[in-house]
Amino acid sequence: MNLENRLRAKLAERQMAHRYRTRRIVGSPQGAILQEGGRPLLNFCSNDYLGLANHPLVVAALHQGAADWGAGSGASHLVNGHSAEHHALEEELAEFTGRERALLFSTGYMANIGVINALVGRGDRVLQDKLNHASLLDGGLLSGADFQRYRHNDMAHLRARLENSGADQQLVVVDGVFSMDGDMADLPAIVEASRANNAWLMVDDAHGFGTLGTHGRGTTDYFGLNQTQVPVLIGTLGKAFGTFGAFVAGSETLIESLIQFSRTYIYTTALPPAVAAATRASLRLLRDAEEGRQHLQQLITQFRQGCDSLGMALMDSMSPIQPLIVGSDAKAMRMSARLAELGCWVSAIRPPTVPEGTARLRVTLTAAHNSEQVDKLLEALNDAASQAGDEEVLP
Ligand code: PMP
Repeated sequence: MNLENRLRAKLAERQMAHRYRTRRIVGSPQGAILQEGGRPLLNFCSNDYLGLANHPLVVAALHQGAADWGAGSGASHLVNGHSAEHHALEEELAEFTGRERALLFSTGYMANIGVINALVGRGDRVLQDKLNHASLLDGGLLSGADFQRYRHNDMAHLRARLENSGADQQLVVVDGVFSMDGDMADLPAIVEASRANNAWLMVDDAHGFGTLGTHGRGTTDYFGLNQTQVPVLIGTLGKAFGTFGAFVAGSETLIESLIQFSRTYIYTTALPPAVAAATRASLRLLRDAEEGRQHLQQLITQFRQGCDSLGMALMDSMSPIQPLIVGSDAKAMRMSARLAELGCWVSAIRPPTVPEGTARLRVTLTAAHNSEQVDKLLEALNDAASQAGDEEVLP
């Protein structure tokens, strides 16, 4: 078939299924309010959980970083792109996470692909929670290891899989906070099950860093887990840190191995050093953002109580990710469109990103919001739900 015709047919199919993805053009920096097409919208879908993406000190560090280092790194880390700024950030991230060393990657997606593939291959086995982020699932699939998933947070299922293995080595991979449901992994049980079966454990805490634990040290800190218990720890910098990129934290041996063997580390251009400089500033702010974290928790409680009194069932999440499952794709789209008319930007997340029949409005709250804005969202959700028809709002 002719390429254009083939692609047009696939696009039409996606449109018919109400799964067509579109982008809206943002006309302002991140914050509680975004400009879109000349109108302000309350922003309830960003991962900038602490409002650092547009913090004056982070922006000033980015400016200064560009003045000191220019716009780009010029090469990969192993050629001559690894600047003193990158190196200092790695040392600070190691200290922050309580690990021996940390290593920067250009994105979380690449870190997850590159780390899994450096650790396991044919003859090994990767076990993942069914709701893990796409980058973890893709990393597992690409690795050539036997790739298996266990039911979401179902520890009996994980244990059964771990105990029943002929693999050379097993690697358990899990999100700290699940990106589409907002709940936390049962990490203490996963650590124990992995230890009992000599499996390695990798935790991607993209959504936990900055929001959970003392000084925002994330889900592993929240559960009091150290480097021996969670030897491979991933963080991303594009969420609560407010910048861009990702890191892996762990032992000296782990990090040296990744430098030798991780293809998405070796064969790609290093982050701009200015981004590393901005991230050093945001790390300092994130560590000290106790007030912001408290404020965020208050907004989360306010939102959950508000949904409760409106009869809208939320998922079991204490994180800033508060999805409202609406069921059908069409209903999620209708509600998202109505919310935009009412001045709230809440994205509809549909399959295949989430399981069939669980299309949802993925509300995210940030420390940049205030309580009036959350009230406004609740009002708008109430209106959108009543307009969207009688289809049940599922728990
Ligand atoms: N892991 C998780 C859990 C995520 O939610 C995301 C981003 N959506 C990533 C990894 C990918 O990180 P990045 O955006 O830096 O590629």
